[in-house]
Amino acid sequence: MSSPRILLLGKNGQVGFELQRSLAPLGEVVALDRYTTPLNGDLANLESLAATVRAVRPSVIVNAAAYTAVDKAEAEPELARRVNAEAPGLLATLAKETNAWLVHYSTDYVFDGSGSTPWSEADPTGPLNIYGKTKLEGEQALAASGCQYLTFRTSWVYAARGNNFLKTMLRLAKDRETLNVVADQWGAPTGAELIADVTAQAVQKVLQDGEDSTSRELSLSGTYHLAAAGIVNWHGYASHVIERARQQFPDAIRVRQILPVATSAFPTPALRPGNSRLNTQRLKHTFGVELPAWQNGVDAVVDRTLTEILRPSACTTEP
Ligand code: NDP
Repeated sequence: MSSPRILLLGKNGQVGFELQRSLAPLGEVVALDRYTTPLNGDLANLESLAATVRAVRPSVIVNAAAYTAVDKAEAEPELARRVNAEAPGLLATLAKETNAWLVHYSTDYVFDGSGSTPWSEADPTGPLNIYGKTKLEGEQALAASGCQYLTFRTSWVYAARGNNFLKTMLRLAKDRETLNVVADQWGAPTGAELIADVTAQAVQKVLQDGEDSTSRELSLSGTYHLAAAGIVNWHGYASHVIERARQQFPDAIRVRQILPVATSAFPTPALRPGNSRLNTQRLKHTFGVELPAWQNGVDAVVDRTLTEILRPSACTTEP
């Protein structure tokens, strides 16, 4: 088989950046974002997006771009819908036309967050906010298109690069004595590196199986839950991150109290689900991947970002 051409959209997001690394051994990766020219990957511009896909002629499209500003989406539903639903729908139509695979990401926010049982792929959805609704519409557009697709629903994504809860907690722990952190939303922090590595393994498998047998290839198409193992709430997650940092730089961590609070203590424009537990059996069984405990990836990213975040600011800017 000749080396496949992989079109990666959203190359500079948390997951997109890690995908540049993990997809590289699989083929020729054309990595774009909304600013690249002449090939442009703006998901808000459907016309130029279609032109880009037709010009690249990929055998795999990996869409890591998304409108991810959960609260802002409440005020910008049309833009969120174009990026999270209409653009993935267009990618799916183009993938179907050209017999390409489409890899896409979705979220625990497609569920209503009730109960305490991990959600499986077949469970009924019920998004509580615009972001979740538009992500669900994107999923549904893929499923309705008839293309070959992998939708990975993930949760609580973090990375060394980009802005996320983990890095926010480290910054606050340096500056504040007391932190109040929500303790009634449960899920699994999932590293962008893990998502990118599992994606590469899955893409390799669908391409390999495509060579072996068409029927097996078709059976892999679908939605999979992809999250690290274990479960925690935001308060437990913050406490773990800060404890790890304190072990290494005790003098740089000012915070003394991390208090658990209810979601209602932090009113936000978008409602958030209480139960974001994802059952990952289907992914593990189908692709033979191990999903490590959430602490593994979190510790690695804390260790990598600590020095930069905790460095005394006086040392960085004094002339
Ligand atoms: P990021 O917000 O880190 O990255 C999203 C990327 O999409 C950014 O690079 C952003 O570019 C880009 N983007 C936004 N609008 C457009 C547009 N109109 N055209 C092209 N690119 C655009 O998200 P993650 O990497 O964390 O998320 C990856 C996937 O995982 C997404 O599908 C997301 O919905 C899903 N997910 C994320 C979770 C999380 O906690 N972050 C949780 C669950 C699921 P720019 O930087 O220029 O804005």
